Amino acid sequence: MTASLSLHPSIDNGVQPGAAHHAGGTLLCKCPSQKVQVAVKSQTAHNHACGCTKCWKPAGALFSVVAVVGREHVSVIDNGDKLAVVDPKATIQRHACKSCGVHLFGRIENTTHPFFGLDFVHTELSPEKGWSAPTFAAFVSSIIESGTSPASMDAVRGKLKSLGLEPYDCLSPPLMDAIATHVAKASGALPA
Ligand SMILES: [Zn+2]
Ligand SMILES: [Zn+2]
Repeated sequence: MTASLSLHPSIDNGVQPGAAHHAGGTLLCKCPSQKVQVAVKSQTAHNHACGCTKCWKPAGALFSVVAVVGREHVSVIDNGDKLAVVDPKATIQRHACKSCGVHLFGRIENTTHPFFGLDFVHTELSPEKGWSAPTFAAFVSSIIESGTSPASMDAVRGKLKSLGLEPYDCLSPPLMDAIATHVAKASGALPA
């Protein structure tokens, strides 16, 4: 692996900073016509590169780039009949275009889940600029499950660090802490 290593087209040449004031935009699937359109009427948060095998990745990318936004800000505005849930049993129900395969949004329907209320979106699907920038990389080791050689991992983690995206093999410490806090409050180990 060399400098030509491609993690994801939106970060390979450097991470673009987000805009201080960004009102959202419209996500479009990759179909040449009759595109599924999903409005996201807010800035996103916790944007990150994700190496898991479930997130949608553009062709050739080792990682997805995925952010969260309150589900109340997400609405299907056109060609929603082309959407289907990829895996109804998954915690995150990823609504994908049946024609082109792009995931428009992922939604958690389990009201007890720590991230209930947040949808997962790929803002690269929007022509608007200024979305929150990715700030870390999650589930990095999982790219091996998609066929990346373990011998490439030093180069992959090195490139992520050079981009300012600290690599983690789960989620980032603040998000892992948030999940554990939610679990502890549910069990009574911490006061609710
Ligand atoms: Zn499509
Ligand atoms: Zn993922």
